[in-house]
Amino acid sequence: MHKGLEESAVTEARQLAANADRVIVKAGTNSLTDEDSNLDDEKLNKLVDDIEDLLERDKEVILVSSGAIGAGTGRIEQANETVEESQALSTVGQSHLMHRYTESFGRYDRKVAQLLLTQHDLENPERFTNFRNTVETLLDWGVVPIINENDAVATEEIRIGDNDMLSAAATMGVDANLLVTLTDVGGVYTGNPKHDPDADRIEAVGTNYDTVQEIISESTSDGFGGIQTKVEGARDVSEHGVPAFIAKSTEPDILEKIATAKPVGTIFVPINGVSDD
Ligand code: GLU
Repeated sequence: MHKGLEESAVTEARQLAANADRVIVKAGTNSLTDEDSNLDDEKLNKLVDDIEDLLERDKEVILVSSGAIGAGTGRIEQANETVEESQALSTVGQSHLMHRYTESFGRYDRKVAQLLLTQHDLENPERFTNFRNTVETLLDWGVVPIINENDAVATEEIRIGDNDMLSAAATMGVDANLLVTLTDVGGVYTGNPKHDPDADRIEAVGTNYDTVQEIISESTSDGFGGIQTKVEGARDVSEHGVPAFIAKSTEPDILEKIATAKPVGTIFVPINGVSDD
């Protein structure tokens, strides 16, 4: 369903997304870990396989990966109750995560790089320019940049807070022309699909944004890292003239489907249905 939105604008946005040559892919903790908070090799390899599909299409891909705190929790049996504990767990999980990405991309003979950012880095023009330059250099070298928040030094006041905002900022900051947020839910629904079998997927969001917001606030109570922040991140990007998707991490060949303009997940149509450039 995408009531109120013209079919042609949605088709055009899907095509724009398919043609994107610089793509930010955001993967959440649930898309990388199992129910015991261990890194799930199958899930991680699937994500890397999907990204490889885009790389083989000669697209540049930047991965924003969560999972540091989650993977750390599964790796060492320590409490995750205080800020200090989750900061410390993130450092255990982050190195484990990068080890696994190095191995998984290695199956395709690809190299990866780790970039850890804080809110300060996004706000300070000089630091942000340095970040951009590093990303450009890595992409020139054919290395896959993998970004996460630097949780070890990010206390409450200076936290970006969630990678949905980080990936939206990165998309705009490095002039990517597509953002794909992968989740275990798979899009924006009229209810919570985990509990409500009648919940319908909203195929596209654009001029119907206010209606969609109302539906979400009525149907979800999740705050941090939930569908709300994913929608806000995707909306910010689409207001910047760039299409964004919220799509299901477990769906087979999900990134290939987006690269071939298939109707998957929820697409956020660039505000005028066209790109800025
Ligand atoms: N930076 C956090 C982590 O890697 C995740 C934040 C989020 O889930 O958005 O564990």
